[in-house]
Amino acid sequence: MTAFDYDLFVIGGGSGGVRSARLAAGMGKKVGIAEEFRFGGTCVIRGCVPKKLYVYASQFHEHFEDAAGFGWTVGETRFDWKALVAAKEAEITRLEGLYRKGLDNAGATILQTRAVLVGPNTVRLTATDELVTAERIVIAVGGHPTPHFDLPGHDLCITSNEAFDLAELPKSILISGGGYIAVEFANIFHGLGVETTLIYRGKQILSRFDQDMRAGLQAAMIAKGIRVICEDIITHVAEGEGGRRTVTTKAGETLVVDQVMLALGRVPNTARLGLETAGVRTNEKGAIVVDDYSRTNVPGIFALGDVTDRVQLTPVAIHEAMCFIETEFRGNPVSPDLDLIATAVFSQPEIGTVGLSEEEAAKKFDDLEVYRAEFRPMKATLSGRQEKTIMKLIVNAGDRKVVGAHILGHEAGEMAQLLGVSLKAGVTKDDFDRTMAVHPTATEELVTMYQPSYRVRSGQRV
Ligand code: NDP
Repeated sequence: MTAFDYDLFVIGGGSGGVRSARLAAGMGKKVGIAEEFRFGGTCVIRGCVPKKLYVYASQFHEHFEDAAGFGWTVGETRFDWKALVAAKEAEITRLEGLYRKGLDNAGATILQTRAVLVGPNTVRLTATDELVTAERIVIAVGGHPTPHFDLPGHDLCITSNEAFDLAELPKSILISGGGYIAVEFANIFHGLGVETTLIYRGKQILSRFDQDMRAGLQAAMIAKGIRVICEDIITHVAEGEGGRRTVTTKAGETLVVDQVMLALGRVPNTARLGLETAGVRTNEKGAIVVDDYSRTNVPGIFALGDVTDRVQLTPVAIHEAMCFIETEFRGNPVSPDLDLIATAVFSQPEIGTVGLSEEEAAKKFDDLEVYRAEFRPMKATLSGRQEKTIMKLIVNAGDRKVVGAHILGHEAGEMAQLLGVSLKAGVTKDDFDRTMAVHPTATEELVTMYQPSYRVRSGQRV
């Protein structure tokens, strides 16, 4: 018989929090979970899920154009932003209901409140001012978009939090950043007919991706009509006429747009959480410091997902939650394996990737074989669309292991998932070579690139 109110108390109803609460409750543990906003977290409510729905919405305009090459005449088309927002809202409400139902069915106590730490085993529920105790506490409160307080006029800008629910679809938008969110939203807004400009401080978007993917996507975005400004940053945002925004850049350009969106990374939600009171250590970014088993420095307090700033991805938070349950409640210590995480950028075309970029691999291995194919996808032959698919395998010549696989093209995210399994299993280039192709597909290129396009020895292309 435990002396605490709960065996496990979870703060935060996002991906990591809900998974840990549901699994523990399903094992018969007494579990409470507090969420101040909506269950589902960033991913379901204002991240991955609505984003993907909006990506689909934004693709129709190209589908309508492409149809002509296949004999179709598409009549007059019109896009209704409010209808999309309402349909999205209905879907995330459905998903939120499923999250709650899963918790409820498992026997967890759902508490609609903010919860803050007041000690190693004690939490205060702010809605009722009630104190509850728990043997273990999990902090899974996620993060929020960097507000960029240093930017004069930052309060006139939106972030991904607001972008999904704007009252009106802007006619023009300037998006600041060159990461996942900036790139995905630039493609979404452009596809929905918004005059879109992306401004990024680096030489080329997506700094942490393979060079070919970056160059290929940036070229494709520019070819579509997205304006991409590199090596420049916004220095000032002011309110202009008719509620528009007047933006000044460091290079001296002035842009007048309907909306400015900042997509400059995300920061952990650790403010006013009682971490200092409980003695929980955070790092210089404000993220909770944890060990391989998601343990903080305070016994009995754990942290999962974006609040720990390990890898800010939903599947990672879920995986960390499952490892936590396995370790703490099943007596089987497991730490999350963060190596070879496949990921996708839902740009148009998409990037799907797993493993090392060519640049990273060149730093790690003396002798690389790079297999690279660039081709026009079959659908583009009749549609007439000028677009390229790029596929790339990076192979360590020493042991023939494929250490990186990168795709720019339609459904690259779907492909990355399967490549992720192969690389995780330690696939070699010889395994690719003896795999029969699926014809006609784009992916067959991956198993028919028999000769290296080039080698990289001691960091130099030869
Ligand atoms: P990212 O870290 O991907 O990108 C942040 C961008 O902002 C980078 O281009 C960075 O430049 C730039 N930047 C940072 N600070 C400044 C500054 N002070 N001035 C100018 N530019 C700046 O973050 P996002 O916000 O795009 O996304 C947050 C996280 O969410 C991602 O890291 C990802 O893990 C996750 N996510 C995943 C998605 C997916 O899986 N498809 C989709 C959306 C988000 P630089 O590159 O030069 O550092």
